[in-house]
Amino acid sequence: MRTDEYDIVIAGGGMIGISLALALAPLGQRIAVVEAIERSAPLQPSFDDRSTALSRSSQRTFEALGLWPAIRAASTAIRHIHVSDRGRFGFSHIDAAEQNVEALGYVVINRVLGTVLNDALLAADNVDVICPARISRVQTTERSVTVSADSNDDVRQLQCRLLVAADGANSGVREMLGIGAQHVDYGQHAVIGNLQPGQPHNNIAYERFTNDGPIAILPTADDRVTFVWTLQPERADNVLSLSDEEFTEQLQQAFGFRLGRFSKMGKRARYPLSLSKANSLVVGRGVLVGNAAHGLHPVAAQGFNLGLRDVASLADCIADALADGAGDPGDATVLERYAEWRRADQKKLVHFTDGLVRLFGSRRRSLRLLRDVGMLGFDLVPGVRRLFARHTMGLAGELPRLSRGVPLK
Ligand SMILES: Cc1cc2nc3c(=O)[nH]c(=O)nc-3n(C[C@H](O)[C@H](O)[C@H](O)COP(=O)(O)OP(=O)(O)OC[C@H]3O[C@@H](n4cnc5c(N)ncnc54)[C@H](O)[C@@H]3O)c2cc1C
Repeated sequence: MRTDEYDIVIAGGGMIGISLALALAPLGQRIAVVEAIERSAPLQPSFDDRSTALSRSSQRTFEALGLWPAIRAASTAIRHIHVSDRGRFGFSHIDAAEQNVEALGYVVINRVLGTVLNDALLAADNVDVICPARISRVQTTERSVTVSADSNDDVRQLQCRLLVAADGANSGVREMLGIGAQHVDYGQHAVIGNLQPGQPHNNIAYERFTNDGPIAILPTADDRVTFVWTLQPERADNVLSLSDEEFTEQLQQAFGFRLGRFSKMGKRARYPLSLSKANSLVVGRGVLVGNAAHGLHPVAAQGFNLGLRDVASLADCIADALADGAGDPGDATVLERYAEWRRADQKKLVHFTDGLVRLFGSRRRSLRLLRDVGMLGFDLVPGVRRLFARHTMGLAGELPRLSRGVPLK
């Protein structure tokens, strides 16, 4: 069987795998991205009909990669965030002007982001995209990693110095590397879609906590909005079986009329929600990024943003290692530095989103009181709000070069 040699193989060409390939491309390494499902396929799991709220640190990363003008042209600014609790008295605001920024984030449709990222990848001479092909086997030695990439009628072997698992929350490559993970099933499904509000969205993102679960409504182009409605699985079955008109009515009742009357419902889809967390980020010459390292509940819209900071940190560590000309991207010191750097940010975001799900999902009286007080306190104390905003914008802690908007080369 033929064996092709690379410096770095990235398993998974979803939002994170491709972003990593683009971050590493200027470093001149020979890179292969192995992706199981073609981008145009209806079942492509990363570049689908969801929207992603990009944080400020993600914006800066794309600026450093020269991709921001194309992404900005296809995205919508969030200038205010409005958080409320249905039937309770507390609500909170975060405002871009108060944070001295033009926008708190930008909303882009995953499929559209996929087009920008994949087009940029085509222009990178030192990156091979092997798709559709699935990594089915991983063998590691002290000096290299060999993977088998299976496509319909062919199996290829790829040998590299570093294997990066970017193959999502149910990462098979993580398992093949022998890294365990903890999983918590939240017993909730996210129902997503898009619609036309009766009033202009005015660039406001809404997060509304209801007895069924949170509803996030994000502003998008053409004055439409996208929604993520978190529900118990049986209730999700129920609302998905409704006609567009009946579904719109149910969503309207749960969200209220802050955006006027909803109409023109688009395509709907669902995602089971869980928390996953790898027991380690590194083993030998293998390393994890994105959802393969941590899969979060979408309640705070942080999963991709956190993953992109993994990308920026790993690329930073590799760039430093290669700066003397003889560096090895899979060297243990490089990967340990990456793992150490990412520990605090990942732990904080996992606890933060998990805490939000539990706090706002609870029907316990004491917790309901706490969240009323918490929301009011949150709104009334500017320091608390500013700190929270810095975290959601991805600007807290020691940031790698790309997350600060500084190119690696
Ligand atoms: C409803 C919803 C809304 C969200 N909204 C936001 C948001 O607003 N902001 C935000 O920051 N995050 C958000 N997220 C989270 C975000 O979507 C994920 O964090 C992000 O998609 C992770 O990207 P990834 O590339 O790590 O994994 P994935 O998107 O899962 O991609 C993994 C890729 O690997 C491929 N693959 C799998 N196995 C193999 C294999 N063996 N060989 C080769 N390829 C393989 C898959 O085909 C896939 O393309 C949301 C998530 C959900 C569910």
